[in-house]
Amino acid sequence: MDKNRKRSDERSKAAFAKAKAVLPGGVNSPVRAFKSVGLTPVYMERGEGFRIYDIDGNSYIDYVASWGPLIMGHAHPEVIEAIKKTAEKGTSFGAPTELETLMAELVCSRVPSIDVVRMVNSGTEATMSALRLARGYTKRSKILKFEGSYHGHADSLLIKAGSGVATLGLPDSPGVPENVASHTITVPYNDLESVKFAFEQFGEDIACIIVEPVAGNMGVVPPLPGFLQGLRDVTAQYGSLLIFDEVMTGFRVNFHCAQGLYGITPDLTCLGKVIGGGLPVGAYGGKREIMDMIAPSGPIYQAGTLSGNPLAMAAGYTTLSLLKPETYEHMERMATRLQLGFEANAEKHGIASTINRVGSMVCPFFTDTHVINYETAKTSDLERFKAYFGSMLDLGISIAPSQFEGMFVSGIHDEAAIDATIEAHDEALRRL
Ligand code: PMP
Repeated sequence: MDKNRKRSDERSKAAFAKAKAVLPGGVNSPVRAFKSVGLTPVYMERGEGFRIYDIDGNSYIDYVASWGPLIMGHAHPEVIEAIKKTAEKGTSFGAPTELETLMAELVCSRVPSIDVVRMVNSGTEATMSALRLARGYTKRSKILKFEGSYHGHADSLLIKAGSGVATLGLPDSPGVPENVASHTITVPYNDLESVKFAFEQFGEDIACIIVEPVAGNMGVVPPLPGFLQGLRDVTAQYGSLLIFDEVMTGFRVNFHCAQGLYGITPDLTCLGKVIGGGLPVGAYGGKREIMDMIAPSGPIYQAGTLSGNPLAMAAGYTTLSLLKPETYEHMERMATRLQLGFEANAEKHGIASTINRVGSMVCPFFTDTHVINYETAKTSDLERFKAYFGSMLDLGISIAPSQFEGMFVSGIHDEAAIDATIEAHDEALRRL
């Protein structure tokens, strides 16, 4: 790691200025604009493995992984080859292809709770559709979600949300009708007592609980022992559905997703990110009896012009095929190394720090409070994060520009990359 490295950003600055004329805020997704860290977004040119290269010629060790999907790194040769080969035969038909069935078989075989799966085009579509299904199936309107969790930008779910909503401090978005919002109950993550209390009051009207089995949109917050089981029990008791939003955790924290890691079986599961291998994909699936309520086998409607798109299926199928149980062991080792290195650095510099980690999801918070929910995540010193983020970028490490997002260690990060990152972290803390 070169401590004297100078990062130029003239081209990125010019590119952003141009973009601002034609894109709202200059971007197609808010956190990319680097607003909360007060910097110019870095425009990328290419990526290879764990490295990405910007248009000014700077390179970075990347832990954003396109916000999670690129678990086998950028431009993995086998993924690219699969996309190319598929593209040569046509990009979309709007008719079924055998690749969709292959992909579904693979997902069903790896995710314990999924008998049947429907492909969509984003995580937002997956959760939005799963909610409609839960409401249609149970004939109930209310849903329960957790403060600081993000489940995409569907109206019902944009209440006290995490991720960019938390980063930009916009807890409730204008444009969500009040009568829609009134059906969403929010309680603190990891707070089973509040969940039970909500069910005592509204249990007969609650269609589902939707939960990130590891919260990844308020930093990284693991479920406390008994929390997920408690959700399973209370939903079963009241005839509500339990939806695991595994858009982020699916195939990231474990070969069998978070539900495999914690041994809890939800009724429905939402997937995205990794299953698309870097192309736009989401999916929702679960028990056959529930999934059969979706059109055309049932009356609940959901459709998509590009759903099950051949290129996306090819990238996703290839990515999932590259993931072996050993890949998760490797990520666990690398992420543990990173965590221990960061902890040692924080101690050395006397900086308040709490590092949460589940598998390859790692989040260093600038607080010495035990982070178990959104309230405690917010105790992190955001001004410190801002300075830290800028230093890491200058030192050639790409992390998400928000305290409320974790780092993704991928199957291709090696010890040298991790050690260089620990060194950069040491230097970034020294500069604070
Ligand atoms: N659910 C979770 C848990 C997520 O992390 C995200 C995106 N970060 C979404 C849903 C929404 O997915 P997308 O951005 O693909 O719409």
